[in-house]
Amino acid sequence: MFRIGFGNDVHRLVRDRPLVLGGVRIESDLGLLGHSDADVLVHAVMDAILGALALGDIGRHFPDTDSRYKDADSLDLLATVVGLMRKEGFRVNNLDATVVAQRPRLAPHIQAMQACLSGVLGVDSGRVNIKATTTEGLGYCGRSEAMEAFAVVSLLADSA
Ligand code: MG
Repeated sequence: MFRIGFGNDVHRLVRDRPLVLGGVRIESDLGLLGHSDADVLVHAVMDAILGALALGDIGRHFPDTDSRYKDADSLDLLATVVGLMRKEGFRVNNLDATVVAQRPRLAPHIQAMQACLSGVLGVDSGRVNIKATTTEGLGYCGRSEAMEAFAVVSLLADSA
């Protein structure tokens, strides 16, 4: 009737890559490196949903050895995961996620990310909470070597 899933992801920050977080393109001198668009937040959300459904992880569903996913828009991959979830008979109850990034300042983009994610998840934006934090300069995120994201979702069965 009720499921909880957790997701975590890290991507390296490099020059000459776009920064896309939660489906939102953000102005930055550094972007995330990856096979797809490397949207670390969307990847954590996908893993949380797949986790709640006990369907493995995104590496299993979208292997980075598959050229179909080269530079993929992670929102399209999320839409596929949402389709799987619907097929399993579940819907999103709520999502809570945190992006760890030293810079740029993400606060001005949070609302756009929430709108974007709630649209693909098919829920009211009041059920989607995105947070951003720095690590006070500590660790790989603090040194702007990477960004990390954590996500928790709860799902409800259609029959609930
Ligand atoms: Mg990833």
